[in-house]
Amino acid sequence: MFYAPENEIELIESLKLADDKTYIIAGGTDLIIKLKNRKIIDYSIIDISKMQSWNYLTEDDDNYYIGPLITMTELCDNDTVKEKLPAIYWAAKELGSTQIRNKATIGGNISNASQSADTLLSLYAYDAKIKIINSLGEEKIVGIEDFVVGREKTILNLGEAVKEIIIKKKDRISTFKKVGSRKAVTISKVSCAVELLKKDELVGNIRVFLGAVGIKPVRAELLEAEFSGKKLSDVSLDRLREAAFNEVEKAIPTRDSRFYKRVAIEGLIEEVLGDLMRYEKL
Ligand SMILES: Cc1cc2nc3c(=O)[nH]c(=O)nc-3n(C[C@H](O)[C@H](O)[C@H](O)COP(=O)(O)OP(=O)(O)OC[C@H]3O[C@@H](n4cnc5c(N)ncnc54)[C@H](O)[C@@H]3O)c2cc1C
Repeated sequence: MFYAPENEIELIESLKLADDKTYIIAGGTDLIIKLKNRKIIDYSIIDISKMQSWNYLTEDDDNYYIGPLITMTELCDNDTVKEKLPAIYWAAKELGSTQIRNKATIGGNISNASQSADTLLSLYAYDAKIKIINSLGEEKIVGIEDFVVGREKTILNLGEAVKEIIIKKKDRISTFKKVGSRKAVTISKVSCAVELLKKDELVGNIRVFLGAVGIKPVRAELLEAEFSGKKLSDVSLDRLREAAFNEVEKAIPTRDSRFYKRVAIEGLIEEVLGDLMRYEKL
């Protein structure tokens, strides 16, 4: 069966008919490869790509609201993303190729929940909330850290879809950086997303997350400790590099890739610090 809802009412009707062989498709950049690689031929599709009402970025006094169908290209072209949510901007800008960015959606990136999903990592740093809708039209909101439950696994149940991403407005400094390249679906990289809030010119609350060093984003508390309570200009690069090295060692103590990632992350954290200092001055 193939369903192509054009609005939320039609989507709910499609979700009611979903069974365990039904897949939602948005841009298809992950799903098509998954179906092919796993040789899945007996399936139904709910194609949500025609749901224009799910492609938006709006805001009110408290929050930014992002529709799941916004593509990476659209995120990069959006001034609010560029100026206020640079961790998403950089994640979207460096994701895949131009062709992939034109199709890949933020809803697909987080629902696929790959260990190296880039906008997902930024949403961890922003402590985003995810609004989910089910086949009865009921909605619930969960924190991003509860949304991903394992390797490529989310809390989405049969007949549920991601309807919206919500990010609280804050006077934040943030960024995203990654190392590595992606060839088809083989990834070998490390990524880092940071959100910090300043208190009296010093780093107050800080959230640092690393990607591709675990089955889901890993909170980097050793790195956070190196930033906390300091002026950004006083953060020691040597100590940051050491903490970054130790974060990888802690996260993947036995994986062969740790040798590469331990070194890669030392360079990455230097770029992260440079970015944060640059954004601090803007
Ligand atoms: C060559 C190549 C390079 C890539 N490079 C990167 C990269 O550098 N960084 C990166 O993070 N990713 C990368 N990707 C992965 C991919 O492009 C992203 O994860 C993309 O954002 C997925 O979005 P999509 O709309 O294509 O999702 P789809 O493929 O349509 O869907 C992905 C999954 O999400 C589910 N889904 C989609 N939308 C919803 C929704 N609203 N509610 C519930 N479930 C939903 C689908 O059922 C499916 O399980 C790359 C892919 C390719 C092919």
